[in-house]
Amino acid sequence: MKNPVSRVENPVSRVENPVVFVRQDHSKLCRFLWRLTPSIRERWFTFGTTIYYPIYANPDNQKVIDHELVHVAQFSRYGKFLFLLFYFILPLPIFFSGRWFLERAAFMIDIKNGMSVENAVRILADQYATPWPRRLMTKWFLRRA
Ligand SMILES: [Zn+2]
Repeated sequence: MKNPVSRVENPVSRVENPVVFVRQDHSKLCRFLWRLTPSIRERWFTFGTTIYYPIYANPDNQKVIDHELVHVAQFSRYGKFLFLLFYFILPLPIFFSGRWFLERAAFMIDIKNGMSVENAVRILADQYATPWPRRLMTKWFLRRA
């Protein structure tokens, strides 16, 4: 098991900085976010080159790490401002959300790691505020899976 804060070799070549793993309760940012969105306690998320994981999660879960490393690379490519703008606001907060363009690449990794397309779409609809219509997400994944 990793220490709550640890540095690891970076397997994503596009990312220049080392990735840091932080258990959420060791982060002031996370404790602040818990008050705004309590459900974030149960989720892994990435900000820049830091991957935050839930208190009771296994920080060595390679499948989840593979997903989050996609976001680390996206942060590196687009920068924090554009990433967050796209993730939360443009073109719409839900239903035609830029979040889809960022998450679909990460969920393709999940699908390659064994997740079904149906499950990926269900998770995106239920936990990611339906970034795109279910039918269109399914179609997109099936074309590439
Ligand atoms: Zn994601």
